Order: sequence, then C-alpha cells, then structure tokens
Amino acid sequence: MNPFSSKPAASVASLGEQKLLTAIRRWLGRSAPLAPAGMGDDCAVLPAPRGRRTSLVTVDPVIYGEHFDDDVPPRDAGAKLLKRNLSDIAAMGGRPTAAVIALALDPRTRLDWLEAFYRGLAAVARAHDLPIVGGDIATHRGGLVATLTLIGETTSARALTRTGAQAGDFIAVTGALGGSLPSRHHCRFTPRLAEGQWLVRRPEVTAMLDLSDGLAKDIHALTPPKSRPLIFGDLIPRRASADLRAALTDGEDYELLFAVRGGAPAAHRLLAAWRRAFPRVPLTVIGQFAPRSVSATGALDISAYVGFEHLKS
Ligand SMILES: [Mg+2]
Repeated sequence: MNPFSSKPAASVASLGEQKLLTAIRRWLGRSAPLAPAGMGDDCAVLPAPRGRRTSLVTVDPVIYGEHFDDDVPPRDAGAKLLKRNLSDIAAMGGRPTAAVIALALDPRTRLDWLEAFYRGLAAVARAHDLPIVGGDIATHRGGLVATLTLIGETTSARALTRTGAQAGDFIAVTGALGGSLPSRHHCRFTPRLAEGQWLVRRPEVTAMLDLSDGLAKDIHALTPPKSRPLIFGDLIPRRASADLRAALTDGEDYELLFAVRGGAPAAHRLLAAWRRAFPRVPLTVIGQFAPRSVSATGALDISAYVGFEHLKS
C-alpha cells in the first residue's frame, strides 16, 4: 500500500498534529500511558525504583528543508539537533545523561557537511558533559533527517510538568520571543537547562514547558481546566525584529514558560531571586490564569492568533 494520498481528506493534513496525536494514542490503546508517564509533555517521565532518580526521555529530529536549509551552516544544524532536545529536558527541570542519534541519509550526502554537523553537535554535547552512546544510519534517497533521542534525569524530588497550574497563578517567560528565523535564534539559542533546574526547586513554580510552536499555541498546554490565560501584549518581551504577532506565533523560541503560585508577593520574590541567579537572562511576568468567566480589559484574545501547527499547510 502506498503511504501517500493526493486527497487532502484522506491524509494526515486533514487532522493536523494535535488530532493526529489523539488518533495515535487511540491506535496504541493500552500501550500508551497517560502523561507525564506517556505522551503529552515535553519529556516522558519514567517511574524510578525507590531511591533512584526519575528518568526523562524525549526525541526530536532536524529535517533538511524543514528545520534547516542551505543558509544554515552544518555546525549550527548539528548543534540545533541536540539543543532542541536539551530544551525539552530543561522544561522538566532535568539534566541530560545520554543520547542516541538516528540518521536517514542520501548516499550523496557530503562528507564535509556531515563532519561539520557532528562537530557542532559534539561541541554542545561537551558543554553539557553528555555522552552520545549510539544510534543508527539508514538510507533515505533525496532527504536528510537526523533524529536524536535524549535521556535525562530529574534534579530534584519532582519533574516540572505542563499540568499543575491553577487559576490565579501568574504566567512568566524567560528571554524574548519572536523573530527566531530572521535573527537565527532558532539555531543559535542556549537551552535553559540551568534556569530549568533552578525553577524546579522553587515551590511556587507549578507548571512549565519550553516554547517551540509559539506562545499563542503553547500557552494552551499550560492553561488549567475551566481557565483562560489573561496575557497583556505590551508585557510580552520581544526580540528586536519581532512585532506582537511574531512574538505570539513564530515558534522556535526555546524559552521557558511557567506558572507562579502565591500572588504578587511570590512573583516579586521569585523575580528578585532570579535576577541574582541569572542577571543576564530576562524573566518577565506577562499575565495570569483566570477562571473562564473572568475577562480583563486589555488582555489579548489569544484565540485570534494561531501558533505553528505541524502537518497543517
Ligand atoms: Mg517542548
């Protein structure tokens, strides 16, 4: 059976990423546990035997033509492959422990390109003391896909997941958003590992994720049931090249988005401690979760902005 269809209604494009994930969960049936032990968070959290660190697992590819093109130096493409996975470990407050890489390569792939790709990846791995312990190489005529599986562990008694926020919690974000492609941030970013490990130790932080598909889309994963995010556009920290729409929808920010419990006093204490710990990394409160019945003048209508959705064209 040919896996492709020219009929949109018969193809994965008719579902988009979110509905396809729901379908895959159904097809897997009892083999697919609920998050955080299974699909649905930045990493899967694997239960550990008593007294051992909890394991984290995540996987992400870089695909030629999708995540990098001829304008991206191979060193940056290799670094990006590891860093986007590190960002998922950061989002749980974890640390990386080992990685494996699956390559799907055209036989015509340039050796000097591939060497630079691996040198870029190795530089990031060394910076995090991370061993690359294996992988696989397969033929893929006409394409180049590198997929990295990253294993990590928790650094405190808990992993920070996407669920846990409540109405009333403030919403905070690291760094600046938008314009990731023109500014080259999408391959030059620094994964927020130290910051994630610091935040997981702060009890007032209740839920966290790393922004990959844009604030407008990713905020939904953090929003508690029967609530809505009240976000104020002029509070959102933007990269120099980015307008408000870009900051909300561009994606590939790889910044940490999290919820803070305890009202304004807790948020102020957190911000003050943050500035001492990370004087060079901005941290900004951009809004608050509220019961769905509550509205606020000046809050953005997030639903008017659509973040990046995989498979939809
Ligand atoms: Mg993520």
